[in-house]
Amino acid sequence: MNIKQIFKNNENWVHSKLNHDADYFNNLSKGQNPDILYIGCSDSRVSAEELMGVAPGEVFIHRNIANMVPNTDLSAMSVIDYAVLHLKVNHVIICGHYYCGGVKAAMESKDLGILNPWLRNIRDVYRMHREELNSILDEDLRYNRLVELNVQEQCINLIKTAEVQRAFRDRGLTVHGWVFDIHSGKLIDLKINFSEILENVMEIYHLD
Ligand SMILES: [Zn+2]
Repeated sequence: MNIKQIFKNNENWVHSKLNHDADYFNNLSKGQNPDILYIGCSDSRVSAEELMGVAPGEVFIHRNIANMVPNTDLSAMSVIDYAVLHLKVNHVIICGHYYCGGVKAAMESKDLGILNPWLRNIRDVYRMHREELNSILDEDLRYNRLVELNVQEQCINLIKTAEVQRAFRDRGLTVHGWVFDIHSGKLIDLKINFSEILENVMEIYHLD
């Protein structure tokens, strides 16, 4: 990768935007008002804006290894707090993807140093759904299913936060679980039943 080329690309991008709309950056600098918070994987193949076809200013984005929402992760928790409380987004998306290296690593028995505590969150998802996962004999299908279950569990982690519970009650905020299939380029809606899960977990996690 030629780093100098990136600056040339940037110049071309600025020119093309300004050709289209002379006030483009002027308007962008006035502030942001996104309606969506997207939490996805850092994987270089899963480019959030591009795969959703959205423009700068439309989606607030957080990415980490395997699209996790650990309740002790200050970065993820701050992003959720800011997006839900201050930007007042109405949709929060957890987007996983098939062929996720983070999920794959969590399925293997290997000491990965500082990654161990991070991947342990995915191993916990495996443990919670061990029966279903172990009954899938095809390893690729089991891997895909863990990607999906991980998205589902991260949606549940979102629902455990006071901000999301309150925003659901006050303005009907919705949590969505998606998977991006790198092999076909398609986005798949896992159709996670947000209100049903919410009702289910609220008995234990109710905060407000
Ligand atoms: Zn990934």
